[in-house]
Amino acid sequence: TLELRDIRKSFGGTEVLRGVSLDIADGEFLSLVGPSGCGKSTLLRILAGLESQTSGSVHIGPDCVDGQRAADRDLSMVFQSYALYPHLTVAENIAVPLTMRRLRARDRLPLVGPLMPGAGARRADIACTVREAAETLGIAHLLGRKPGQLSGGQRQRVALGRALVRDPAAFLLDEPLSNLDAKMRVHMRAEIAQLNRRLGATFVYVTHDQAEAMTMSDRIAVMTDGELLQVGTPDSLYDDPADIRVARFIGSPA
Ligand code: ATP
Ligand code: MG
Repeated sequence: TLELRDIRKSFGGTEVLRGVSLDIADGEFLSLVGPSGCGKSTLLRILAGLESQTSGSVHIGPDCVDGQRAADRDLSMVFQSYALYPHLTVAENIAVPLTMRRLRARDRLPLVGPLMPGAGARRADIACTVREAAETLGIAHLLGRKPGQLSGGQRQRVALGRALVRDPAAFLLDEPLSNLDAKMRVHMRAEIAQLNRRLGATFVYVTHDQAEAMTMSDRIAVMTDGELLQVGTPDSLYDDPADIRVARFIGSPA
């Protein structure tokens, strides 16, 4: 399980998370929705260890992970921007978590030099793991290309591939499809849902898209102004919205 206990976060004098508590079961697909600026990305970054909370605690499985750095948490995060290195090949981009010891959140720009094999991992093993992830995502034929030579959907798969090679207990995805066209969004939606079932890993999925949340999720958490308004199955939110804001997002009759 992933567990958030009374998470608060302030930037300067402004509290953007105001006591969020949430349990996410193993293997669950949970969508996190809510208006722009309500704190979704901040919450995901805190879960990932890319940002620290002002108070409250984060638990992964039986362990409290407060103070544990992102690279040590059994999670993979996929960013809206994909965060690919333009000068590396697809294979090298997917291999990043296996070849770099420290992956810092803000290292989105091309800062890496030649790749060094990480702790004990051998090149052949890495190549094999990368190929396997690429095959899962249907991009094995693109391993030699650079990100600039890929379509949006293909870049998205590379970002997913990089998350996959860590073989994490949970995937955290922050609006991963928002840069894709409508047709590719629908396609990738199905693929991500299938990945969740196939891997049995937990997915926490931030989206603005009501249809995505309704069709992909076991449960949906609706957030506004740094607080969770309601958490429940798509059906229960539709049938019994806690208030007008939930009803509006879900599209229930008022
Ligand atoms: P969106 O749907 O637009 O991505 P969000 O729900 O992900 O929005 P967050 O990015 O979590 O929202 O931001 C929540 C609030 O915290 C916003 O008011 C934002 O301006 C503020 N905020 C986020 N990061 C920082 C930061 N590093 N410094 C100061 N304020 C920040
Ligand atoms: Mg966001």
